[in-house]
Amino acid sequence: MGLGESNTQPQWVNVLVDYGGQPAEYTYAVPAHLKVQVGDILTVPFRHQSVGAIALSLSPTPPANLLPDQIRAVGGIVEQRFFAPSYWALLQRVAHHYQVPLMQVLKTALPPGLLARSQRRLRLRRDRVPQTRPDVLSPGGSALLDDLQRSRSADYTWPYLQKRGHSYRAMQQLVQLGWAESYLSPPQPPQAKRRQAVTLVGGDPLPIDLTPRQQDIIATLRRQGGDLWLSDALQLCQTTSPTLKRLAQAGCLVIEPREQLRAESGPALTPDQPKALTGYQAAALDSINRHSQGRQFLLHGVTGSGKTEVYLQAIAPRLAAGQSALVLVPEIGLTPQLTDRFRRRFGDRVWVYHSGLADGERYDTWRQSLRPLTPLVVVGTRSAIFMPLPNLGLIILDEEHDSSYKQDVPPCYHARTVARWRAELENCPLVLGSATPSLDTWVQCRGPGESQQENPDWAIPTISPAPPHAPTPPRPHAPTPHSLPWTYLSLPERVQAQPLPTVAVVDMRDELQDGNRSILSRPLQTALANMKAEGNQGLLFIHRRGHSSFVSCRSCGHVMMCPHCDVSLSYHQPKANSAMTLRCHYCGFSQGHPKQCPACSSPYLKHFGSGTQRVVNALGETFPDLSCIRFDSDTTRTKGAHRALLTRFAEGNADLLVGTQMLTKGIDLPQVTLVGIIAADGLLYMNDYWASERALQMLIQVAGRAGRGTLPGQVILQTYTPEHPVIEAVTRHAYEGFIATEWTQRQLLQYPPAGQMILLRLSSTDPIGVQETAEALAQRVAQALKGSPYQLLGPAPATIPRLAQRYRWHLLVKGPLGHALPNLQDLKQYCPASVSLTIDVDPLNLA
Ligand code: ADP
Ligand code: ZN
Ligand code: ZN
Repeated sequence: MGLGESNTQPQWVNVLVDYGGQPAEYTYAVPAHLKVQVGDILTVPFRHQSVGAIALSLSPTPPANLLPDQIRAVGGIVEQRFFAPSYWALLQRVAHHYQVPLMQVLKTALPPGLLARSQRRLRLRRDRVPQTRPDVLSPGGSALLDDLQRSRSADYTWPYLQKRGHSYRAMQQLVQLGWAESYLSPPQPPQAKRRQAVTLVGGDPLPIDLTPRQQDIIATLRRQGGDLWLSDALQLCQTTSPTLKRLAQAGCLVIEPREQLRAESGPALTPDQPKALTGYQAAALDSINRHSQGRQFLLHGVTGSGKTEVYLQAIAPRLAAGQSALVLVPEIGLTPQLTDRFRRRFGDRVWVYHSGLADGERYDTWRQSLRPLTPLVVVGTRSAIFMPLPNLGLIILDEEHDSSYKQDVPPCYHARTVARWRAELENCPLVLGSATPSLDTWVQCRGPGESQQENPDWAIPTISPAPPHAPTPPRPHAPTPHSLPWTYLSLPERVQAQPLPTVAVVDMRDELQDGNRSILSRPLQTALANMKAEGNQGLLFIHRRGHSSFVSCRSCGHVMMCPHCDVSLSYHQPKANSAMTLRCHYCGFSQGHPKQCPACSSPYLKHFGSGTQRVVNALGETFPDLSCIRFDSDTTRTKGAHRALLTRFAEGNADLLVGTQMLTKGIDLPQVTLVGIIAADGLLYMNDYWASERALQMLIQVAGRAGRGTLPGQVILQTYTPEHPVIEAVTRHAYEGFIATEWTQRQLLQYPPAGQMILLRLSSTDPIGVQETAEALAQRVAQALKGSPYQLLGPAPATIPRLAQRYRWHLLVKGPLGHALPNLQDLKQYCPASVSLTIDVDPLNLA
């Protein structure tokens, strides 16, 4: 290596050392003979051992706080480019955009114990060891070589060799001479669970010489579908293994070990075949299949239009071509039906990855997906976007509008944004599916609604890809353009063209005027009675209480709003005897709680909130024979509770499912004909900028649970503000019209996606300290933003001013599109240790 070249080489490397389950970053020197690259797995001396490390970044200068001779040197390279450069670039992009140290992204992306579990081993290369030993070999190296040559396998872990008294230096020497190689042994493949299964064979006629007892057993097995785990069969038939073995010898059944999928489901999961597609499905699939390169698809399909079937059929050809697919879903626990559908289609090529897995399972899944033997379909929640799958052929984000894709602890990433970057870096298609696309996605894909006519530049071609060298049209007021081109795909009808349910709006002000003070309006009561009489099932949706602490007039529907921000004010009463106030959480505006409605002087100015339990109680009073299942965070806390409750309901063990937003998440219950929405208003006036968007998404999703089977569906929507544009849009199943209005408003106020925001969240157990820090940081931020198009809102106490005994304050930085976000990472150094600061870029939750 020439002198010039070695001079330009970075001499220091920052590495991730995962020691004792506490990953941390350290700096090491790079010896001249090593060519370390970012993403390599290294060995480094750490305390008195040599441990595994990942090269994070290279630097030509040592860190300022260390003297060069205090820095130890990298031992060796175990595996070059352990991470694909595109994967590494993804992690770095996440760290950069979300303003967190790379370390924090790594902790999210990599499974716990990554380096601890991958064992470093040393293997003798007998073919390379010369007959006569050169003098260069140290006594230690010589002893190690002797030891290895005596052994048959000549392949040991480093810790074992160290235990046998061999030095790190000796191992290094053999590696450098090329006589031994150091490698990272892949972890043991997760033991596919094998269990004995019993399968009926032979069919009719049965051998004639069976005893009545044996015939009885066969009959029982047949009733159970003829395919069971041995343990289940023994229990069901009240019999013993020898008895079943005799039946196996007689040719009636087969007992054999079978691989158990990692799912809780056994062999009862019958495989299914691709369905014959509807015209719309076929067109969408065809368009997706025609692209193998980076492209974003918005698959906009009404509820029950068969989006999942399109995903399945889009994945199949990629798998056949040896490519893997990544499928993201908002919440695994809530959608066991969905994972089952993937398993039925693709069997054990489907792996599920989510934070609910045990560390070991997560590790195995992650590590194996790095170098899979066969292409995989990984179905997972938000963090699965970081699965290191090579040769990715397709990424799917189901229910792309769902806010659970956004993480609200650092790194505060949005899986949809990361998915876009990943599709771009891997150059593969990304399918975003939803019945109610996010405004962000919609505007990027379709342009901002009405202004599309005024500004033809927005007319982005559907289906057919843009010509390769077409000039990019200028996009005034456009959201930050992502470099991937878009295709819009629509599934405007339900499968087999069942109509969407009818939506009836009930004005709760009229109910009150007519003397009905119940939570249940008269039309809802009638509908419930009819539903029961006809033997059908229903869902009642209640918006979760708590965050919806807005104040509205029960006589005229007037909602108390902030005069500066166009968001609803929140109700506050810190203690039972303290004064009631209304406050804006964007700008800090506050006022006393008025005694009367400012619009109509009615005294019924109340804050909202209506829990599941209250509704169940009200139902019990009005309809004593109606059986309900409560489906909310209280009743679904235990593992498997979702599935159990849904199964009970699906089997007809209750008339009504009463629950919160969990009911919106892709539940496919064909028997449901009635959906009641108790108080839509709680959703409409959540005090953040995208309350309307979220409300419409949630209401359309809930309404979409009705009439998915053969019977038509009916939705009853109770509200105090029937004239609200969101309510009108739900009634008309009109998503697109709403979007145009909403976009105009976002533009006026520069809210995302018509603007960019960073939320600084401060919290502390010290109420004074956190407020003072918020004020001090605000001054710094204001100073830093001077002359930039960004502005600072706040500081203001958070909507939930105290959470888990911590006092919370917010600063909101807001600005137009097309300007780089200000980097606020430096602020951390001005926070006292008692105050924690979270930087939330593109925040969704402003509470
Ligand atoms: P979405 O994901 O859009 O809500 P699903 O994929 O769940 O819709 O489809 C709704 C129902 O229709 C499911 O029960 C599904 O099995 C069924 N289905 C989907 N596509 C077809 C098809 N082409 N032919 C028959 N049934 C279908
Ligand atoms: Zn009023
Ligand atoms: Zn305000």
